[in-house]
Amino acid sequence: MADYCSECTPFDYPDIDLARIALDLSPGRSESFICEGCNNRAVYKDEEGRLYLAKQEQGQVKLHPTTIEQLIK
Ligand SMILES: [Zn+2]
Repeated sequence: MADYCSECTPFDYPDIDLARIALDLSPGRSESFICEGCNNRAVYKDEEGRLYLAKQEQGQVKLHPTTIEQLIK
């Protein structure tokens, strides 16, 4: 069964809730996952509490700054 993140899921309840992951993360930690619907691969929170979305792009994982407001749908 395919897993979809909250950014791309066609369903009401995402398998991978990005906002929930971000809220549960401790500073300096990341949680990775495989989304079948888009390039999202991990949520990372740095030591200052800034959030990043890691996306697979052309064979590389790149970090994109994000916020909890952007992750809540
Ligand atoms: Zn996705």
